[in-house]
Amino acid sequence: MEQLTDGHGRAIQDLRVSVTDRCNFRCQYCMPAEGIPWLEREQILTYEEIARVVGVLAAMGVHDVRLTGGEPLIRRDLPRLVAMLTSLGDVREVSITTNGFLLERDATALVEAGIARFNVSVDSLQRDRFYRLTRRDALAQVLRGLEELARHPDAHPIKINAVALRGFTEDEVPAFVELARETAYEVRFIEFMPLDGSHEWSQEQVLTGAELHALVHAVHPLDPEPREPSATARVYRFADGRGRIGFINPVSEPFCSDCNRIRLTADGHLRTCLFSLRETDLRTPLRERASDAELDEIIRRAVWRKELKHRIGEPGFVQPDRTMSAIGG
Ligand code: SF4
Repeated sequence: MEQLTDGHGRAIQDLRVSVTDRCNFRCQYCMPAEGIPWLEREQILTYEEIARVVGVLAAMGVHDVRLTGGEPLIRRDLPRLVAMLTSLGDVREVSITTNGFLLERDATALVEAGIARFNVSVDSLQRDRFYRLTRRDALAQVLRGLEELARHPDAHPIKINAVALRGFTEDEVPAFVELARETAYEVRFIEFMPLDGSHEWSQEQVLTGAELHALVHAVHPLDPEPREPSATARVYRFADGRGRIGFINPVSEPFCSDCNRIRLTADGHLRTCLFSLRETDLRTPLRERASDAELDEIIRRAVWRKELKHRIGEPGFVQPDRTMSAIGG
């Protein structure tokens, strides 16, 4: 089967699947305190429908799947979906991005179902600041979940993603650096992107990867590691050999040129870029019993028009209507 490729010659190998738009946190940079109107149950793809789309895409060479949300662990019986996906011949790897609140409960089942890599979103290591940012007093629960996960050798490397916010994250750097140096967790700082529910994002709020790198390097010198193709993070090793730390800089150092990612929303729409202003409905043809060949054609046509890059900071940039919580990381 011909490798799925976009109109810029990029091979698409990575699918992010949002299994729900719902979340048990209310992060300030993502959604308002009252949440957002959730999708109706019947709009959400069933596990069988997700597995069907993943199967069609995997046959086209899209063999890495990352499960996201909202918060994926709040969707019931998620390990069943994981087992369905890992049993698909062309799927090479299934990973997950979670806020960690339900990890203590689900870690073992997810590892046993075949999750290969875990990204856990933790933006503060201080209880009161964590609460202020997520509107949940949940740091202790998340750290217990991480400990439970870390007991599984198959779950490593475990990556901890911290959204970098100017005027907030600077004070968190020492604790995250210590975490990266003292544990097996790989810490990455992610620049704040214009995907917030209240559309209040501004360039001034972005604490750049370069600024964070300078803060860390000033105390613990860093050596760059070679960047893997299509990787989002720029990873550094501490010069004294004690761990690694990474910076994901979509705003200040975009990595679109070798982007190999597409996304499937919880309600069955294909997004060819995180910042797409258009989507392709796959749920309707799925429910109208389209054949694999028909789905293949719809997908190839949509991906051929994949955006070359995002246009953050350019005149005319338009923030997508769909928020990060409804797209998934
Ligand atoms: S912004 Fe779009 S094109 Fe750029 S890396 Fe992200 S998904 Fe790919």
